[in-house]
Amino acid sequence: PLVLGIETSCDETGVGIVRGHTLLANTIASSVEEHARFGGVVPEVASRAHLEAMAPTVERALEQSGLRLSDIDAVAVTAGPGLAGALLVGVAAAKAYALGMGVPLYGVNHLAAHVAVDQLEHGALPKPCIAMLVSGGHSSLLLVPDVAREVIPLGSTVDDAAGEAFDKVARVLGLPFPGGPHIDRVAREGSGTAVAFPRGKYDDGTLDFSFSGLKTAVARWVEAREKAGEPVHVPDVAASFQEAVVDVLTRKALAACREHGVSDLLIGGGVAANSRLRALAQERCEAAGVRVRVPRPGLCTDNGAMVAALGSDLVAAGVSPSLLDIPADSSLPITTVHV
Ligand code: ATP
Ligand code: MG
Ligand code: FE
Repeated sequence: PLVLGIETSCDETGVGIVRGHTLLANTIASSVEEHARFGGVVPEVASRAHLEAMAPTVERALEQSGLRLSDIDAVAVTAGPGLAGALLVGVAAAKAYALGMGVPLYGVNHLAAHVAVDQLEHGALPKPCIAMLVSGGHSSLLLVPDVAREVIPLGSTVDDAAGEAFDKVARVLGLPFPGGPHIDRVAREGSGTAVAFPRGKYDDGTLDFSFSGLKTAVARWVEAREKAGEPVHVPDVAASFQEAVVDVLTRKALAACREHGVSDLLIGGGVAANSRLRALAQERCEAAGVRVRVPRPGLCTDNGAMVAALGSDLVAAGVSPSLLDIPADSSLPITTVHV
């Protein structure tokens, strides 16, 4: 069946079309530039932008795939978590499309969709696998017996998400919002061992993360240098911060695999686009005998294809469609794969 996926949890209006695990279209309209001058996403601005971009983005997805609306067999939409107003626009649109076409509607979890999307690139997920979800609002290790049915949290950040730490440190370093991609780029000119920044919860024996101490340490370090009138070599600071993050992430991901006797790791979410994380994960997983899968960067950050991918799995698993009155739930827990 052909599944249309709609994503509006944050500032990306994403529309994807898939057949099984084959990607047919993936179109995005982003309001990120409108938020950049505020240094963060402004919810009202995002909602308005979704409203304006929704229909044209669906049109572009249909064009890209050479399909017509009447070809679509099911609609999937992000029901949460995310910005309440932004989610509402996507959910309302999805209901309208599903009702208008007379096809089933599936409300899906944005975080589970970040996991499911990898199947569009690397085929069906091994059952079970360990998934590390690292994004702007979440950082979690998950045991995934079957992404369409069950996701079990093993650990998560106790404070900031990994992407949030990237964005906050970027701001300290005078880099534009969102900072993750800028740190990634600038860090290539620097040394990851220039400054020994703290690695929160490195040896605490849990599968939890903590990034707020690291963020503060970077801010203090920069502040101290500036006060002393000493130069701050931004590439070195960016690379050393990034190294601290990816060192902890890869270490804990492998610990999760070991503790649960699972030898397949999937990394998803916006931070999975990070080039150093991808390289270190490859290296450490290879040494540990763990197979690692990471979607291409364009599928790591928010998009509609990820929603369509999870919707497609729900259809294949014979899961009952959602009711047409599904709510948008800004704090939908990861354990609720679909509503
Ligand atoms: P969530 O999925 O938790 O609701 P979100 O949808 O806002 O949050 P994503 O779009 O999945 O988050 O990811 C965005 C985050 O990924 C931002 O914090 C951004 O800085 C970060 N990010 C994107 N590319 C990179 C990169 N190359 N290196 C590091 N971080 C990155
Ligand atoms: Mg975004
Ligand atoms: Fe996301």
